[in-house]
Amino acid sequence: MVTSRELGKTRLPLWAAGFVALICVAILGLSAWREWEARNADLRNAEIDVANLAHSLVQHADDTFELADTILVGLVHRLELDGMGPDTIAKLQTYLPTRKSSDRIRGIFVYDDTGRWLATTEQIDFSRLNNSDREYFRQHRSSPEKGTLIGRPIKSRSGGQWIITASRRIDHPDGSFAGVALLTIDVAYFVKFYERFDVGPNGSASLLNNDGIMLARSRDESGAFVGRDLSNAPLFKTWKSRPAAAVYYFKSPLDGVQRLSYYQRSSRYPLMVLASKSQDDVLAPWRRAAVARMTFVLGLVLLIALIGSYLVRQLVQRQRMAQALVAKEANFRLLAEQSSDMVTRIGLDNRLLYVSPACARITGWSADELLATSALAGIHPEDLERVEQAIAALKNGEAEEARFVYRQRHRDKGEIWAEAALHVTLASDSGEIDGVVAVVRDMTEQKDLQDKLASLATTDGLTGLANRRAFDERLTDEWARARRDGTQLSLLLIDVDHFKKFNDHYGHLAGDGCLRALSRILSAHARRPADLAARYGGEEFALLLPNTGPDGCAEVAEAIRRALLDLAMLHAQNPPSRLVTVSVGAAASLPSETTADSSTLVAAADRALYAAKDSGRDRLVMSGQVVPWPARTA
Ligand code: GH3
Ligand code: MG
Ligand code: MG
Repeated sequence: MVTSRELGKTRLPLWAAGFVALICVAILGLSAWREWEARNADLRNAEIDVANLAHSLVQHADDTFELADTILVGLVHRLELDGMGPDTIAKLQTYLPTRKSSDRIRGIFVYDDTGRWLATTEQIDFSRLNNSDREYFRQHRSSPEKGTLIGRPIKSRSGGQWIITASRRIDHPDGSFAGVALLTIDVAYFVKFYERFDVGPNGSASLLNNDGIMLARSRDESGAFVGRDLSNAPLFKTWKSRPAAAVYYFKSPLDGVQRLSYYQRSSRYPLMVLASKSQDDVLAPWRRAAVARMTFVLGLVLLIALIGSYLVRQLVQRQRMAQALVAKEANFRLLAEQSSDMVTRIGLDNRLLYVSPACARITGWSADELLATSALAGIHPEDLERVEQAIAALKNGEAEEARFVYRQRHRDKGEIWAEAALHVTLASDSGEIDGVVAVVRDMTEQKDLQDKLASLATTDGLTGLANRRAFDERLTDEWARARRDGTQLSLLLIDVDHFKKFNDHYGHLAGDGCLRALSRILSAHARRPADLAARYGGEEFALLLPNTGPDGCAEVAEAIRRALLDLAMLHAQNPPSRLVTVSVGAAASLPSETTADSSTLVAAADRALYAAKDSGRDRLVMSGQVVPWPARTA
């Protein structure tokens, strides 16, 4: 089962990555939006530029054609009044050049009703020229319409250059067709005028008539565009539904360049102008700046993404480490909590910071009850100082670990033996000693077993007295003590008389019983704490009497003899008493620096015992002196 907290942990890097991505997207989005706004602002400004230009050009075209109109109106009026006789024409021929004062006007022409040239501003011989094939001529001849007609651009018959025509019909007084008055304007005049305006390297300014025929276009000195029919272009196809002036985006059918433009129709003449700039030219500065800005922004975003991904990776790594740590901690906790040993952590103030559940078994108190109490509580007063010293040595840094056995109070069982293994703990940040970890084990059973083994090793199985080994050890100790203290040490060696015969007569089991009875008497007479009764071997016993001289020693021997007689164990093979008797060899010594060692005391007692046997048994012989029993009792 995955808990929600662990889920939250695993999702944190995801959230962080999402956050970084969001920041990157937000920065990119904002920058892109801002660039788009800047681009649109540049286009708006360009639109205003071309609109202003279109206004000027329309004004200029209107002025030009108004001038042509004025001249034509005056000319036609005069011809209609004066008639077209040779006199009038001759006068006209001299008058016409004076009208061609402005450079806008290329030439002025008058044709009769057959198309023959009557008068012109051109300095050529026109006697044989005829313009009846021209479109404007045919239009005027066929229509009584009196207005000025602006025609398509045509190549001048007199000069060969592109011209725009403005013409009016001349009527006879009866209203019949009398001829045509024509005025031509050089296309180059417009072209030159348009050159004055800066519309960028790929911009253009164009003058068109309402049928979509190109009249003049900037940068068209060769005349490549003049006369083109653009009536199929989208602008003219939707001409009727369009406003008189508007911004217009299109791809030029003439040069394929994407343009932003402003077109404006003349309110007076069937003309329109189209001022345009190449969208690429307009946007070029913005594009350069935008590339620079976006490069910077992209670099910034990349940096954020890099740093973000580094941080996210760190986060993932840390999370993994934390999870590993949690798992490790859980393992250690499991070890501590499942262990039959009591694991504790002790602070520098000796208070328990942690106690594993095994404490309930080892001390009888629960972990909750023990927490924050003193770790030294419950330790047997005799062991306390030793334990305190060991802990102090650990905390001072004198030792890294300590191991000792001590007695510990148990809530129910009274007292147990415990073994503790202590280690210092170091603070993870400073590395300073910050406490002690103790692992405590209940040693009571082992201790009991140990004690039992120790007593088995020093006790005689049949009689329960000390065995020969324990006797030898004690003898060495007491000898050394007597020498140190300058006190006397006495030894009795006691041997049952004719015991072989006792066994033979009463059986070995009865012999064992006899030996046990004798050992009880010896135990009873080892009255002082330091006295030791031991089975020396077979039916031979020893009684060690520290701080006892020859007199005291003889007294004890006498008491033992009397106690044995009081017991009155039958021994038919032991005349004269026919009771169980013992012979005793005794030696008393005052050990000094010159005395060799304890073996001399044993040897003396042994010699005395032999002497007792040799001199008739059932008696005490003191070393160096035989004291027969009867002699003393007599
Ligand atoms: P003496 O008066 O000269 O001491 O004669 P003794 O027969 O007592 O001496 P000996 O040393 O010849 O015999 C000792 C006997 O003690 C031999 C053995 O059968 C007997 N004995 C030794 N240990 C035990 C024992 O543990 N139980 C029994 N029942 N008899 C033992
Ligand atoms: Mg013997
Ligand atoms: Mg004997």
